Formats: sequence, structure tokens, C-alpha cells
Amino acid sequence: MKPKTNQQAAILSVLDDLGRPVTPKELLETASISSPGLGLATVYRALKRLVDSGEVRKIEAAGLPPHYERERSEHHHFFICEGCRKMFDLDGCCGGLNELLPRGFRMNSHEVIIYGACRDCD
Ligand SMILES: [Zn+2]
Ligand SMILES: [Zn+2]
Repeated sequence: MKPKTNQQAAILSVLDDLGRPVTPKELLETASISSPGLGLATVYRALKRLVDSGEVRKIEAAGLPPHYERERSEHHHFFICEGCRKMFDLDGCCGGLNELLPRGFRMNSHEVIIYGACRDCD
């Protein structure tokens, strides 16, 4: 693995602090407090490297810009607030999705996104 740049290290620590999926813009707003001079282009570049190295996961949901979060080993899903457009992690899985499949079909993976209002917007 290539050594991490300072920018990559700063971005990972911001992702850890925020603890939820964020857009590059949100990330930059928080990261630039501790790393002044950081620009959006640098954030995108560092994120791409971190995604390539498997440390960060890119989440794409319809109608939203891509979000990024620290890769977690546990299977989990997402909540999108339709008020503030923030994305949150949900722990665990509802399960039982296999029951939706027609006979003879096999599930390899699935994504679940719940839309609603967060505590601050409700
Ligand atoms: Zn909200
Ligand atoms: Zn699941």
C-alpha cells in the first residue's frame, strides 16, 4: 500500500469524526478547519485514492450527489433525510429479503435506503 498523503490522513480523520456518509463539500467544510488551504479538487483526488485502496466507500443514491464514508466491515444500510438531505448510517439489516425473490432466483447483494425526516427536521 502506498503511503498516505497528509490530505488523505486528514480526510480519513474527518470521516471518522463525522461518523456518517458525507459529500465532498461537507467533508471540505469540516476538513478545512484543521487543514486550511485544502481545496475541493484535492478532496476529490484524495477520496478517489482512498476508494481505490478500499478505505473509503462511495455511496450513490438516486437524486443525491455521491456520498463517502469510512469503509465498515458490517453490512448496513442508509437513511436519507428529505429535509436537510443528509445521509445517515443504519445499523444492521431488515433481513427477509430472500422471501421477495421468485422461486429459483438467487440474491447476491442488496441495497436499502430509507427516506424520511431526521430528528432535527421532523
Ligand atoms: Zn434532516
Ligand atoms: Zn441488508
